Amino acid sequence: MTVRTRTEASISARSSHRYTRPSWDCAACGEPWPCAPARAELIDQYAQAKLSLAIHLGSVLVEAIDDFVGRPGPVPDLYSRILGWIHAERFD
Ligand SMILES: [Zn+2]
Repeated sequence: MTVRTRTEASISARSSHRYTRPSWDCAACGEPWPCAPARAELIDQYAQAKLSLAIHLGSVLVEAIDDFVGRPGPVPDLYSRILGWIHAERFD
């Protein structure tokens, strides 16, 4: 049985570019999530609420860290990948 979290469910309801667990690759394009289309969609969804996007992605980041803890091999820079990118984005 697959257990889906609330954050995973909320993203998947809006986009085909959602993350898959435990790989954290995009379900649509296979790129590390959030891929470019996912980032564009998130910016659009949270255009007037950058702080809410940061809180949302912070929650997603915690879930990703949980999945990568104890996994063999190198751990990607999950902060930059999942949350850090929003600092460079423009929210108009
Ligand atoms: Zn994608």
